Amino acid sequence: MANYPLIKMNTEGTLLRPQHSYYSDEYATNWCDLFLADCILADSKGKLHKYYRLHAKQDHTMEMAFGYDIHCPDCKSAMLKPISAPINYNELGLYRCPVCDKK
Ligand SMILES: [Zn+2]
Repeated sequence: MANYPLIKMNTEGTLLRPQHSYYSDEYATNWCDLFLADCILADSKGKLHKYYRLHAKQDHTMEMAFGYDIHCPDCKSAMLKPISAPINYNELGLYRCPVCDKK
């Protein structure tokens, strides 16, 4: 599992670019305002997909959680698409990359 700290790219703080890191889950949770954690999940046909979970240090409402545009950590060009709702105020939506996930 890898964690990707997110850097804000615009003044509103809604456009996010992931950075590569060797942060542990604990370190990322304590020190990053926003980060992505990758997770591999199998679909109903048993095919494996790489998804990303958005984590936030500050509490986020549903509206805030879906207000971000996040670049894909792998291809860096495509924007991630949310595929599930937040779990709670700090563990936010699950995202997939429409480009990388097609390979
Ligand atoms: Zn991608």
